[in-house]
Amino acid sequence: MLPRSTGLLINDYTSFWPAQTLLGGLYIYEFLVEQFKAVKRGWLSFTHQISSINSLMLTYSYKYVNDCVIITSVMDVKNTFFKGIKPADDGSRSAILQTRVGRVMTPIFMPDGTRGVVKSLTPEQVESTGVQVVLANTYHLHLQPGEQVVSALGGVHGFGKWRGPILTDSGGFQIFSLSKLRKITEEGVEFKHPVTGEMRLITPEKSIQIQLELGSDMIVAFDHLTGLDNKSRKDVLEAYERTHRWLERCIKEFERLTVDMPEEQKPILFGVVQGGLDKELRRKSLEIVQSSNVGGIAIGGLSVGETKAEMYDILNFLTNYYDNSPRPRFLLGVGDPPDIRYAIEHGIDMLDCVLPTRNARHATVWVAGDKKIHLTNSKYIDDNSVIDPGCDCYTCESGYSKGFLRHQFKVKEPLAGTLCSIHNLRYLVRICEEYRGGQPA
Ligand SMILES: [Zn+2]
Repeated sequence: MLPRSTGLLINDYTSFWPAQTLLGGLYIYEFLVEQFKAVKRGWLSFTHQISSINSLMLTYSYKYVNDCVIITSVMDVKNTFFKGIKPADDGSRSAILQTRVGRVMTPIFMPDGTRGVVKSLTPEQVESTGVQVVLANTYHLHLQPGEQVVSALGGVHGFGKWRGPILTDSGGFQIFSLSKLRKITEEGVEFKHPVTGEMRLITPEKSIQIQLELGSDMIVAFDHLTGLDNKSRKDVLEAYERTHRWLERCIKEFERLTVDMPEEQKPILFGVVQGGLDKELRRKSLEIVQSSNVGGIAIGGLSVGETKAEMYDILNFLTNYYDNSPRPRFLLGVGDPPDIRYAIEHGIDMLDCVLPTRNARHATVWVAGDKKIHLTNSKYIDDNSVIDPGCDCYTCESGYSKGFLRHQFKVKEPLAGTLCSIHNLRYLVRICEEYRGGQPA
């Protein structure tokens, strides 16, 4: 059925559609209405070349509301860095994520370089595991040494010497999980500096400013996290609504600060889906984020204390509502191997977590079959075998025995944590590679 009327629901139409192409835009819009005849009711996006108008390749997302077509987002493909998406029968998909400092093959696991470096590892050691992207924590770098210092030392790349792409989180998770004293207002979150005791205010705008000053290649919108403790539906609803108001402010600030950057130099901005374990809120939050002018979709507020079954239920539920726009989906803070497999098989492209390196520093390593072993166990005292004979990491291939590693842990030699971090990271990267057809990046 041909839509009887049309409407545009674009927050700031001119901000991404320069005035001189408006006429072209109307032409494209007429063209699209013709295309709508052939498609089913629901969400859809498609890309086409408009050779006569600036040679733009544009992607439109739209939905039907009361038989009207509402265009919910229009993106220049130069802004959509996610290409060559290949869905697989198991629900996973592989693709290429083009960042301003290089290409990334997805799905990917990203280790947390909390303070600008993956704990106890050199960039070369991280690279040897097949890791392509490192995550840096905005909260920690903002507090110490501060984004101005990091910027003066060459930004997150020059600072930590990681040459590949870097993603920064918004800082929100740490503020909500680490700060005991905090006050949430519409303006932002005020919290106590854990070292100096002074009060700090992080607003959505401030989070974007810090991430851009840090020199990150992928940045995350500042959201109001729920789920860390038992929250009433009223609290979840309030956080959900605030997250979307803050997303609008983040997008405006991002656009303001990157307006003069060439397209290929702009970082990718991820909007965050919240809603706790409430499926209706999750669905609506996903729709709002997907209809916003963001380059990536982040799923937040999971792996924060709910059961695995509850997390899986939400991830499975969301697969019904992802649109077809070429944007990566990033599940925040998940790193247990079975969870990584489940997430990837439910359409997730990117994951991050402190788990592999934190476990490694505590002598816990993964072996075939996603089993965990604890190297400090006395049964390994004279065990001459490597952690996992089937593993191709530096630690296993070099022949470091479980007995050697156990001893180094017992005498608190940091090398043991380094060697086990290399093994654990390689374990998670290998899982991702299996979904890329076994092709290393
Ligand atoms: Zn290994």
